[in-house]
Amino acid sequence: MDEIRAKIRAFRDERDWKQFHNPKDMAIAISIEASELLENFLWKPPDELDERVIEKRESIEDEIADIAIYLVELADNLDIDLLDVIEKKIEKNESKYPASLVKGSSKKYTEYSDKESDGE
Ligand SMILES: [Mg+2]
Repeated sequence: MDEIRAKIRAFRDERDWKQFHNPKDMAIAISIEASELLENFLWKPPDELDERVIEKRESIEDEIADIAIYLVELADNLDIDLLDVIEKKIEKNESKYPASLVKGSSKKYTEYSDKESDGE
């Protein structure tokens, strides 16, 4: 992670782009890149998605990387330890979605009658 973060910083700083990378615009950029990822699947019915993933593999990889690059930089800029907050959120999700309660279900935590958490 340190090496990736250093490469992202170097790419940005060689172009003097830090001045544009405020938290709002970084969040917008992540959302735009997520939309670019979605575009690979637009109008495709569920039974064509596996084939689409094969056809658009490089584009899907690129958009996933774009999202990750902006996410790593945003966390870096805000002095957030990305791996640490991911681990903490997984722990929160484990208590919000106990496997014994939700296994095999796609319901949101608010739809369980004996939910254990009201957080997001
Ligand atoms: Mg992109």
